[in-house]
Amino acid sequence: MLLDSNDAVPGRFEPLDLRELIGLVGDEELGWASRAVQLAAFDRDHRFCGRCGRASQPSPVEHARLCEACGATVYPRLSPAVIVLVERGDMCLLARSPRFPPGVFSAIAGFVEPGETVEHAVERELAEECGVTATDLRYAGSQPWPFPHSLMLGFTATYAGGEVRIDGTEVEAAGWFAADALPPSPSAGTIARRLIEEFAARAGARSGRRSG
Ligand SMILES: [Zn+2]
Repeated sequence: MLLDSNDAVPGRFEPLDLRELIGLVGDEELGWASRAVQLAAFDRDHRFCGRCGRASQPSPVEHARLCEACGATVYPRLSPAVIVLVERGDMCLLARSPRFPPGVFSAIAGFVEPGETVEHAVERELAEECGVTATDLRYAGSQPWPFPHSLMLGFTATYAGGEVRIDGTEVEAAGWFAADALPPSPSAGTIARRLIEEFAARAGARSGRRSG
């Protein structure tokens, strides 16, 4: 059951927004909390069949809702999204959305669209948001992102071509940043932060080898 922000919680508990748990608890705990919130929200938002409009029931055997009237079964929705850090020597491509906290830049991200491969989603987002192309796409891990039901698939890639240009709406600034002069990153515990920190560590190790 989902609590409303006005609901009382027992004395020794404190209500926290799911986002506030990022970086505060480990990946496993965050995974359980994400799962609980997404499943509860799924039940709340799918009480009626989307096909025929009658009341649906929770399935007794799996996380799904059934419509006895028309036979439809619906499952909790997951929306895959890609996030990619493009490297160009000791620089990486970062952008900022107007929704970010002031000064924060992140890797390029966006949702996978129906009918699209993950690889194509990366290529399209880079083209749409920044006007660049990349090659050598490498999978770097994933993170449940339950706001409200995304799954972030993280990648690194190598710059291939194009000059950075932005649309000014989804992305308000973008550019190449040197590993030793990075702008503020998204919160600790996010896959975006991890991609950026790993890039900085790799670049630092390279420059250490050069100067040593
Ligand atoms: Zn139905």
